[in-house]
Amino acid sequence: MAVSDHVDFSTFMEGVKKRNPGQPEFVQAVQEVSEDIFDFIADKEEYHAQQILRRIAEPDRVVSFRVCWEDDNGNIRVQRGWRVQNNNAIGPYKGGIRFHPSVTESVLKFLAFEQTFKNALTGLPMGGGKGGSNFNPKGKSVREIMRFCQSFMTELYRHIGADIDVPAGDIGVGGREIGFMFGQYKRITNEFTGVLTGKGLEWGGSLIRTEATGYGAVYFLANMLAAKGQDLVGKTAVISGSGNVATHAAEKIVQLGGKVLTLSDSGGFIHDPDGITQDKIDWVKAHKTHRRGRIEEYCDEFKGASFTAGKTPWGVPCDVALPCATQNELLGDDAKALVANGCVAVSEGANMPTNLEGVHVFKDAKIMFAPGKAANAGGVAVSGLEMSQNSGRRAWSEGELQQMLKDIMDGIHTRCLTYGDRGDGYIDYVKGANIAGFKKVADAMLAFGVV
Ligand code: GLU
Repeated sequence: MAVSDHVDFSTFMEGVKKRNPGQPEFVQAVQEVSEDIFDFIADKEEYHAQQILRRIAEPDRVVSFRVCWEDDNGNIRVQRGWRVQNNNAIGPYKGGIRFHPSVTESVLKFLAFEQTFKNALTGLPMGGGKGGSNFNPKGKSVREIMRFCQSFMTELYRHIGADIDVPAGDIGVGGREIGFMFGQYKRITNEFTGVLTGKGLEWGGSLIRTEATGYGAVYFLANMLAAKGQDLVGKTAVISGSGNVATHAAEKIVQLGGKVLTLSDSGGFIHDPDGITQDKIDWVKAHKTHRRGRIEEYCDEFKGASFTAGKTPWGVPCDVALPCATQNELLGDDAKALVANGCVAVSEGANMPTNLEGVHVFKDAKIMFAPGKAANAGGVAVSGLEMSQNSGRRAWSEGELQQMLKDIMDGIHTRCLTYGDRGDGYIDYVKGANIAGFKKVADAMLAFGVV
């Protein structure tokens, strides 16, 4: 028995820090998961002996590559691209591609690590991966974006495949970019397969993929409230972000009878005390996607709303909060402000938007808190359904897919309860999600031996 493999939590984290210098986001994500896993495996010798946690926290591989492209003025530009293939114990690597100047190897490693547990929680056979580039799509022409996507895929294609690794969108990568990348993949390989998800409906995409992440985050929120005999009717919601996840979360909140007060972008947040209704959400969608506008302009369009520059919306009193922008956008003091203002539930539409201090504030205050790996799994879940439809060469109806998404979110909620219900009236969704996601991947790894 390999008793010597029992290191304590802080020794384990010291090792993670030492092996991943200059990668704070990755270390943060590993710490958040490991805090719960250490408790869970304390009396489970096999997980220790086989070093399962240590192995999950070491990506299977990190591919880094040069992406050259030519801008509209004829200048040669050079960016870095990555694909992090974290773990494929339960299915092909699966996870989005992010184009944003904040992308680093650390950010993508944290996202691929989180994705591994998130994908396991969906109940679908998908491993965890993530990719992207520090390319900034802001201000680029459509032709420049096309050339960048093509160049990115010219390297990426050799590392992916419908049964190997299936990328999708994420921040800065939507249907248009997936189209450019899919077109290039098809051209290079002469193969039409489900190698990417988030595709257009005419060429293998799935209905409700666009809506799935935001809708799913609200279904999960509604499930948490229902577990306490509550619902969303009449509840006020503060939402950050104004992209795909935020606008669809807002839409579902409105459909379920809630009132949305805020949206935001990197410039600041808008607060509309009259409520951001469906027609206003439609305006934001068109403004941000087609016109590539700023959220600030909402106030010119809808009187009564105010814009606060350079701030996040967490100080606005609300019943529920949905951080749907990006990692570490909700800090300890923001969490304290939400709790002090009477917020009862938080559902993370983004990946790791709440920092470690914020998570601890929510847990200590015993408010309902759904971590991203549970709450925002609806997006990748419908990606999994898109893979199934592509393999079966068929397309399910909107009604069927809506039901499947709801069922999957219900399933994730139930899985979280299995390990998160403390029996004292408080449900620790972070712990529930971490353990349920870990256990599925870990048990598959045990079956494979030391590989
Ligand atoms: N980028 C999304 C996520 O964070 C979706 C990934 C996918 O559909 O593969 O889960």
